[in-house]
Amino acid sequence: MRVGIVRDDRYLLHDPGLRRPERPERLVAVYEAVDRDFKGAVVTFKPKLASLEDLALVHTPAYITKVLRTAERAFTHLAPDTPVGSQSYLAASLAAGGSITGLDAMLAGECDVCFALVRPPGHHALPDTAGGFCIFNNPAITARYALSRHALRRILIVDWDAHHGNGIQDVFYAEKEALYFSSHFMGWYPRTGDWEETGSGDGAGYTINLPLPIDIGDNDLAGLYRAILSPVAASFKPELIVVAAGFDGHYLDPVGRLKLTEKCFGELTRTLLDLRDACEEAPVLLVLEGGYDVNALALCVREVLRVLVTGDAGSQQALSLSDTGMKLLEKARGIHRKFGVWEGRREPAVQE
Ligand SMILES: [Zn+2]
Repeated sequence: MRVGIVRDDRYLLHDPGLRRPERPERLVAVYEAVDRDFKGAVVTFKPKLASLEDLALVHTPAYITKVLRTAERAFTHLAPDTPVGSQSYLAASLAAGGSITGLDAMLAGECDVCFALVRPPGHHALPDTAGGFCIFNNPAITARYALSRHALRRILIVDWDAHHGNGIQDVFYAEKEALYFSSHFMGWYPRTGDWEETGSGDGAGYTINLPLPIDIGDNDLAGLYRAILSPVAASFKPELIVVAAGFDGHYLDPVGRLKLTEKCFGELTRTLLDLRDACEEAPVLLVLEGGYDVNALALCVREVLRVLVTGDAGSQQALSLSDTGMKLLEKARGIHRKFGVWEGRREPAVQE
């Protein structure tokens, strides 16, 4: 399997100021790990700049103008938690464009899976609002681009960042072309992503939220991903899998503070490869989101790339769920049974 990455030193130009968790050193550590461990093993792509039309697939013209005008100031804020410097608009445009670059490379047959190693992150960005360190919604823009420019019909978006991707959910909430699955701890920003947020209208049942207990372990989380996404993918048959790949669930992370280790993200990646195999080798695009301990972030990205590069598909260990894991699975299944999306429409679709 040919593994692509998207990287560019211009992502380091986004400078949110001192003592900010989302800082350039994150990508420096990731790129060093790539150079140390994967030289020659991955194909590197330079990101294109997202065009105004690309950004407008998700964002309002007024918001895009607001972001571009931050170039006129040395330092300002797009949101209280999202400060930006004069070059941040450039990095943000390259982050959205880099995700699209990864998608285009896969669809052009230049690689089979691709990890866009970009910043700033995107999954909290709403059509007209920045937040949670996010400026443009890189995964949502790329999914929209795949639907409109490549005429794909079904996209599975998986979000394993420790926070809920409220921006992605918001964009696709009433649509059935993109199925959004997120696992997250709900006690923190943005405090969305509850069990009963399941989509609306045509999109009813196409949003699956899995709020996690703070002490969830590697084995339960990996087992839940396998138990939920295997039937969901078999039923939905995605033509593309997009992953909002945040690593702030790592136990060393100062922002996420879950208890996961880097091994868990390797296991989630194995599940992705199995889903890909079951979905006619659908391209898999990972887009970097959170992860704020630079060393833990580099370890997690390395583990994901190791699994991708070695094609290490198929779990080597049994993923039996604990009682807690079983309860979470049963709760999610119970809430989604009425929609028929999850279990192959064996039951009638919900009546509007
Ligand atoms: Zn996060």
